[in-house]
Amino acid sequence: MSESITGGCYCGKIQYQAKPPILYRAYCHCDNCRKAIGAQVVAWITVESSNFEYTADTPKAYQTPTSATRTFCPDCGTSLTYTHPDRPTHVDIVTGSLDHPEAYPPDRDVFPEEKLPWVALCNPKIPHS
Ligand SMILES: [Zn+2]
Ligand SMILES: [Zn+2]
Repeated sequence: MSESITGGCYCGKIQYQAKPPILYRAYCHCDNCRKAIGAQVVAWITVESSNFEYTADTPKAYQTPTSATRTFCPDCGTSLTYTHPDRPTHVDIVTGSLDHPEAYPPDRDVFPEEKLPWVALCNPKIPHS
């Protein structure tokens, strides 16, 4: 399959494309994602870094106190990716920034212990890994 996964920010300045395989499709309930993205829960897909590239402008990168790098559009603020030295060959992409997020439903919850009480798990049957 040479299906291409595409997405970008709200204003269109930043665009990217990625190739399968998709390693994870997850809901992240952690405090850091909640604050960084400004949403009650964040859906992500994970691909190999070597299968990911920006096709227009490049985003601004923010180094977090936990050594992660979060990227976002400097103009419109859309959050785009997350990388961490603990998983150097992976890039997590914010599912909401995909052109077709409907095609990538999350199937697991990560950091469910940090979940807000009024947010539902996406899949109570698959424990976090
Ligand atoms: Zn933008
Ligand atoms: Zn998180």
